[in-house]
Amino acid sequence: MKKILVADSLSPEVFEELKSIPGFEVTLKTGMDEAELIKTIPEFHAAVVRGATKVTKNAIEAASNMELIIRAGIGLDNIDVAAAQEKGIQVTNTPAATSISVAEHAFGLMLAAVRNHGRANLSMKEHKWEKKVLSGTELYGKTLGVIGIGRIGLEVAKRALAFGMKVIAYDVIEVKIDLDVKQVGLEELIAQADIITLHVPLTEETKHIVSDAELEKMKDGVIIINVSRGGTVDEKALLRALESGKVRAAGLDVFEKEPPDDFSLVDNPNVIATPHIGAAAKEGQKRAAMEVIEILKERLA
Ligand code: NAD
Repeated sequence: MKKILVADSLSPEVFEELKSIPGFEVTLKTGMDEAELIKTIPEFHAAVVRGATKVTKNAIEAASNMELIIRAGIGLDNIDVAAAQEKGIQVTNTPAATSISVAEHAFGLMLAAVRNHGRANLSMKEHKWEKKVLSGTELYGKTLGVIGIGRIGLEVAKRALAFGMKVIAYDVIEVKIDLDVKQVGLEELIAQADIITLHVPLTEETKHIVSDAELEKMKDGVIIINVSRGGTVDEKALLRALESGKVRAAGLDVFEKEPPDDFSLVDNPNVIATPHIGAAAKEGQKRAAMEVIEILKERLA
């Protein structure tokens, strides 16, 4: 019997399916801090987490029976992968499961940014009718610059083409793109794009990939969308550019500190902000959980 710890919530139906697999004994225990995880983890052979549980070096040291840690979702930021590998524990995730959820969210933020949905909504809730000051622009005919044309970037590009946008993309690798998307250098993307959307992981190279120097070279009135990771955009530089009017609006799902200590960027009237919910669509979460089940069956059963 393999003991499986589900440390962040999965959809109830997926959890039931997981429990029904012969040979698995499944325990759901969420909201654990490091101390509680250290106490809990030793008896388990596998752990399933989403983004909330931090599987630290100390927790991994205590995981004496652990064979496999799975993150249901993209990224492995909340797992000390090096410590796990040193102990011979496999670490994996479900990188493709939520791409569409995140891409649709990026597109929602893009539409909200160009049409002032955030401000319009707040104003209506104050029982105002500010029709004249809330005019926006279309996406049609505009150039979208995609920084990082991987799984999510490609899904965003597909949707942008359907809206009649021109799409250019920058990536560190040459990506085979079966779409009408031109891969360009970062400088060219920055100079040409009306809207820039980020879909890179946060690494040493991508930290502040959009900062003062890049913002300065962008078109006046550019729109920035970030659903990647906080820190890819320099938040202080973005706020300065919003205040000067260089950036017309920004749609942000991710922040350097989550939740932010300093809400001045979120408070800017031209920022539409969401609390890192890009992947939080039911279908994406279900796809991720079903993939987790497949991985568990394949590697542990
Ligand atoms: P992916 O690995 O498929 O694509 C990332 C792309 O970025 C790759 O093509 C890669 O070559 C490129 N890249 C890496 N370093 C680069 C650099 N220095 N300059 C230019 N390009 C670079 O990843 P994905 O599945 O498309 O996810 C993109 C990011 O979205 C993730 O890394 C994650 O941070 C973020 N994400 C956010 C949410 C959310 O809820 N908002 C959910 C899932 C993922």
